[in-house]
Amino acid sequence: MDQPPGRTHTAQQADDLVVARPEGLYCPAGDFYIDPWRPVERAVITHAHSDHARVGHQHYLAARAGASVLRSRLPGIALHTLDYGEPLTIGAARVSLHPAGHVLGSAQVRIECAGRVWVASGDYKLEADPTCAAFEPVPCDTFISESTFGLPIYRWDAPQSVFDSIDSWWRHNASEGRASVLFCYSFGKAQRVLASVDAAIGPIFCHGAVEPLNRAYRDAGVRLPPIGLVSDIAAKEKAVFKQALIVAPPSAQNSAWLKRFGDYSDAFASGWMRLRGARRRRGVDRGFVLSDHADWPGLQTAIRESGAARVIVTHGSIEPMVRWLNEQGLQASAFETQYGDDTVEADAAGADEAPATSES
Ligand SMILES: [Zn+2]
Ligand SMILES: [Zn+2]
Repeated sequence: MDQPPGRTHTAQQADDLVVARPEGLYCPAGDFYIDPWRPVERAVITHAHSDHARVGHQHYLAARAGASVLRSRLPGIALHTLDYGEPLTIGAARVSLHPAGHVLGSAQVRIECAGRVWVASGDYKLEADPTCAAFEPVPCDTFISESTFGLPIYRWDAPQSVFDSIDSWWRHNASEGRASVLFCYSFGKAQRVLASVDAAIGPIFCHGAVEPLNRAYRDAGVRLPPIGLVSDIAAKEKAVFKQALIVAPPSAQNSAWLKRFGDYSDAFASGWMRLRGARRRRGVDRGFVLSDHADWPGLQTAIRESGAARVIVTHGSIEPMVRWLNEQGLQASAFETQYGDDTVEADAAGADEAPATSES
């Protein structure tokens, strides 16, 4: 409250339910970590993106809806799952997971102890997404929030209008016999796009890095249209790509993998496409502004609806968000974390994809 604006890292208070440690965000009352970046005994995972769900922990706790994705990304982990809203007592803490609307299985972690409630958001968005449960506001005293797009320039259009634009780009290309290659992150964004485009326009294919995630989504009951695997199409059949939408991770850009499509138009779907010049820097024909993170108004709405008097910002545009929160009369500070943004997730997707690229 009495902290000068611009100062983001405050001293932790003795009875805080979550504190920053070198391993990650730590809950002393329950002796567990949230999305730790170093190996720990007990990890509560908000979602399966690689900067939040890492290998090497002894025990994992996550939302049941995300189990198939988590297992496909981290095979062999000791995973315990909870339904959304199902409480679990860990030490002196009562823990439950609540939908964050970010990707399949994404959860906010609610921690209650001695009459106080803290919520750690992980990554979240407020817009509707047919591939995951909708964000649920969870009342709390302290809200730990991401701020990936925490600047006033970030405002998203209604998702349907973005999918309409993707559809008309695809339809136009197909009418001219040109393949439509859409780059987007292989986990989350890809499935959201696949579930939302108009599959009547033409056949849909995906890159080998996207396919295991599609399978995990289907295993979890998410409906996706029929999607072929690019590498299953023999050279003599490649005319089929002329009418097709092809979804590929950003790392496939500028690779020899694209040669098979002949004449193609390419596009990139990301929140970063809101930035001036982003499409040109990416070197693609089209940029679609589509994010799985909250935009500036979305972050404000989520924070307001939490009712929290204290907010701790974890990653993204930290300083502007802390300053804005202080101006609103909230007690705001930051945790230093190793969570990335969509860019990091893109790099991770590239790593996943290496075998698929060499095989095809
Ligand atoms: Zn994420
Ligand atoms: Zn993140």
